[in-house]
Amino acid sequence: MSIVIKNINELVTLSGNAPRCGSEMSEVEIIENGWILIEDDYIKDLGQGDVKVSDNTKIIDAKDKTVTPGLIDPHTHLIHGGSREHELEMKLMGVPYIDILKKGGGILSTVKATRAMSKEELKKKVKKSMDKMLLHGTTTCESKSGYGLNFEDEVKCLELIRELKGDHPLTLVPTYMGAHAVPLEYRDTREKYIELMIDKVIPYIAQQGLAEFIDCFCEEGVFSIEESRRILNCGKNYGLKIKIHGDEIEPMGGTELAAELNAVSAEHLLATSEKGMIAMQRKGVMPVLLPATSFYLMLNKYADAKRMMELNLPIALATDYNPGTCPTESLQTVMTFACFGMKLTPKEIITAMTINAACAIGKQDTIGSIAPGKKADIVIFDAPNLNYFIYHFGINHVDSVIKNGRVVVDNKKLVY
Ligand SMILES: [Zn+2]
Repeated sequence: MSIVIKNINELVTLSGNAPRCGSEMSEVEIIENGWILIEDDYIKDLGQGDVKVSDNTKIIDAKDKTVTPGLIDPHTHLIHGGSREHELEMKLMGVPYIDILKKGGGILSTVKATRAMSKEELKKKVKKSMDKMLLHGTTTCESKSGYGLNFEDEVKCLELIRELKGDHPLTLVPTYMGAHAVPLEYRDTREKYIELMIDKVIPYIAQQGLAEFIDCFCEEGVFSIEESRRILNCGKNYGLKIKIHGDEIEPMGGTELAAELNAVSAEHLLATSEKGMIAMQRKGVMPVLLPATSFYLMLNKYADAKRMMELNLPIALATDYNPGTCPTESLQTVMTFACFGMKLTPKEIITAMTINAACAIGKQDTIGSIAPGKKADIVIFDAPNLNYFIYHFGINHVDSVIKNGRVVVDNKKLVY
């Protein structure tokens, strides 16, 4: 099956297989009046101006539209039960999170809801979110466990990700995050919970091939540096690649730990020290920044993306989609906060959500660019240029989405 997309007002390619660091993030090639030839799952060719089209080729006219690689979301907590809208008024009144937790709310209520759902019920809920992602231009998404917090329910969530593979066009990249919180039943025996992860859960999920990455919430009051090191090292010994939630609230040294362990990425990073940033740069650890979470937590503070870029780090951006601190599936929403909160330009933002995001999940050889040989994951925005769809905020600009060479969203509707 061949498809040609032609008359593209702005074709944003982002070719290459390496992360774009610092000032390279704004060196974005844009082809005016461009075209793309897709054959089967892959991009075959691209160019400017007229294109020869053979018979039996589907033609998509992208007049006045902008085309980019499929958006990649490298940090989500997609698999969870329930929602927490009832906590909104408490948050607005300034009730501390710790008091919400004491009332049975917060992360522990999501753990309860996730455990209570069968795999089939959870699958139905997750697929709805995946549809929303696709409609908003996301074609690949990293997805963490971490609301089961026992052997059975963590395995249930990761098996669910595997089952969704043939079931939904969106690609999910699975991460084990048992170290998201200490579950209630281990509150007074946290060491036992760490032993459960190290002795039972990590070996099992690694042997079953249920996760590619391991992640850990390394933060004051959650998991200490020493605990995080043990948990992540265990995953590493079983062949899992490392991600870290670090330096979100306190500059505890999560980024330095990420560098020490040769992590692929470190995430959040609102409180990261200069020393931490330099350590990441030296060891090639990617910062994954989550500006919509800063907004939603009403922090009036964002990770210092500009300083990281001055230090020649590559930035990736993600939703952090989760029911507590960032309930949105939309990377276009994240574009708004990256632009107006972190002062990143549209070129820097699209780089951070395509080729750099692909690097943050180890998929840069197959996705993240519009280039011959890469998978045909493509978004057509109903906007005349890249600047426009970030400037004109708060609405969904996606017109069509192509995933693995198949049209899955057409004229704003799911067609897979
Ligand atoms: Zn997170």
